Amino acid sequence: MARLHITAEGIVQGVGFRPSVYRFAVARGLTGWVRNRPEGVELEIQGPEAGTADFLRALRTELPPPARVDHLEVLVLPEVPGERAFEILASGAGQDVRPVVPPDLATCPACAHEVATPGERRHRYPFTNCTYCGPRYTIIEGLPYDRSRTSMSGFPLCPDCAREYGDPLDRRFHAQPVACPVCGPHLRLVAVDGTLQAERDAALLGAGAVLKRGEILALKGLGGYQLLVDATSAAAVQRLRTRKRREEKPFAVLFPDLETLRVACAVEEAEAALLQSPEAPILVLRRRPGGRVAEGVAPGNPRLGAFLPYTPLHRLLLEAVGGPVVCTSGNLSDEPMAFRDDEARTRLGGLADAFLVHDRPIVRPVDDSVLRLDRDGPTFLRRARGYAPLAMPLPLEGPPILAFGAHQKATVALAFGGQVVLSQHLGDLTSVEGAELLAATVADLLAFFRVRPERLACDLHPDYASTRLAERLAAEWSVPLVRVQHHHAHGAACIAEHGLRGPVLALAWDGTGLGSDGTLWGGEALVVEGASFRRVGHLQPFPLPGGEAAVREPRRSAVGLLWAALGPDAMPEPFRAAFGDGELDLLQTMLARGLNCPQTSSLGRLFDAVAALAGVRTQRGFEGQAALALEFAAERAAPDGTYPWAFADGAVCVADPAPLLAALLRDREAGLEPGILARRFHAALADLALAWARFAGLRDVVLTGGCFQNALLTALVTERLTAAGFRIYRHRRFPPNDGSIALGQACVAAGSR
Ligand SMILES: [Zn+2]
Ligand SMILES: [Zn+2]
Repeated sequence: MARLHITAEGIVQGVGFRPSVYRFAVARGLTGWVRNRPEGVELEIQGPEAGTADFLRALRTELPPPARVDHLEVLVLPEVPGERAFEILASGAGQDVRPVVPPDLATCPACAHEVATPGERRHRYPFTNCTYCGPRYTIIEGLPYDRSRTSMSGFPLCPDCAREYGDPLDRRFHAQPVACPVCGPHLRLVAVDGTLQAERDAALLGAGAVLKRGEILALKGLGGYQLLVDATSAAAVQRLRTRKRREEKPFAVLFPDLETLRVACAVEEAEAALLQSPEAPILVLRRRPGGRVAEGVAPGNPRLGAFLPYTPLHRLLLEAVGGPVVCTSGNLSDEPMAFRDDEARTRLGGLADAFLVHDRPIVRPVDDSVLRLDRDGPTFLRRARGYAPLAMPLPLEGPPILAFGAHQKATVALAFGGQVVLSQHLGDLTSVEGAELLAATVADLLAFFRVRPERLACDLHPDYASTRLAERLAAEWSVPLVRVQHHHAHGAACIAEHGLRGPVLALAWDGTGLGSDGTLWGGEALVVEGASFRRVGHLQPFPLPGGEAAVREPRRSAVGLLWAALGPDAMPEPFRAAFGDGELDLLQTMLARGLNCPQTSSLGRLFDAVAALAGVRTQRGFEGQAALALEFAAERAAPDGTYPWAFADGAVCVADPAPLLAALLRDREAGLEPGILARRFHAALADLALAWARFAGLRDVVLTGGCFQNALLTALVTERLTAAGFRIYRHRRFPPNDGSIALGQACVAAGSR
């Protein structure tokens, strides 16, 4: 006989972990108990040694996803005589609260099967879920996680659901959002003027007809309202673009099933697994030629953001349509997604032709996550549904810290009890709605985790909505505010993700962030050690005529760069065509007089300038478009040489792109393909990374910043540095872009005195 005391940490609450433990124990004739603890799950088992050993094996290998044990502690205890059963005990009252909040999980195969099977009581029921799947973070109002503290509290269980909920051997044992057609939420199809068109299954079929007619459907989804339109109809897609005021930015496409998706995109095995996982993110895949998806969905883009239905509602709707649909957040360009019914009606009334809604309130907005799977691992482009708000362990113990993040791809981070929780992606803070969402998310996280922050952190930039909110709350709560340089935060986030110690070189290649010297940084080599950093390398700064306007127009970066690097008269003839009458003269006058021409060392702006000068893209439609176009052009070309830099080494290694620029212009004049120019530029950036790594002389190098969303650049830099003996670390669980700034700020603030 053996008795073991086991504590399990990881994703073990709200994911059917205790019922699994119960089944594993009962199947092996073991006795004992299991209960939730603040830090995980605690259990004891007793029985023959072979049985307890096999139980441990099952715990490690047979847990249904997404349950996952990260840490298991096993103690051998004396036998308890007379124990006759295995029990699930009520949760222990925890003092040091370190709750794990489960993210929303895509429909599991068993629930999908029920929904598809005639005769099942949940046949065609769009809100079917169980302990292994369904809404979590989007419905939880407070902790501990219990139905009474979710937006399902208004739906009393029917006798059948109550029986399933109470039966430890049932898949729905303690499934808080459990529901069925008798007791759960229902659908309504509503016209834009508010008149009810249909209910329940008829609403679903009606919504399918709306989409088949090429009209725009506003769908109340899992974490907010989405706008859907037939992805195979060019006219329908164009109508959505016009109404949403989104000209060229790619839309994601929801496919009815993997088979249909494979027709439109090339899908590797690992990608197929991720598409069908409980997280079920949008994956950026390589588009196949042909296919039925309209070109206007992602104009000029060799890739497509694709995903599969992750709720029974999406599944049934897509089945009714019978083909792929564009599925995008319900908002106007740059505003946050609508998630409350009244707000959605007003904000989306002018965008949609009909609303498919339901009566389960969405507690907080959670967008779809977006990832790319490269050969060597995942890259997050947007971290939200399925991943937020899972915490990351933080080695530094300290007071609770709240970090407010950047301005675009905003997130909020809360560090407490040896972990950091990063909020879901909140989007752009430029709009009033965006700033309101940030404030609401801060309040939500604090109430949710019942934490009172003793230190706040924000960006150096005084005009970010996040900075202003942090300043206001720091004064209101009388707590210190730590201002963290943007690229320091980038580096610190990646360092924390990998638990690195000691000085690390951070290649922070980004758009623009305010530097410690008041200029705009973004092409940086920083040595980061804990809460401090040293700038050891950067691009030679160049002027950005028009400041912020240059961020929207790559050609302005090009003019500023040419001016700084090659002098006022260096204006290649073909490039002049990118300007209308007098436009170029105006910019050159601004440069000559230094009017509204802030200096920047941004690599993102260098990308823009090169895209413009290589003849790839002079105007920008959406953020990062020029850089993307340059990446795609380079991908199509074979490796073919590089461009030179001029380095000025002192205490800081300054990289002057003047020789690079001169060579690029010679290539353009010689009539070389833009793809070759783009490829050589990417190779030159790998050279730059190596030069800075050698200059810094540190073994560990983290790659961070928005530029490392670029797959080709990341691969080339990694290859080059690895071959030279450096250890490269990339963001794996969080995005390399500004979505991780809050995380980095929290880490820096935790280490600062
Ligand atoms: Zn399920
Ligand atoms: Zn029911």
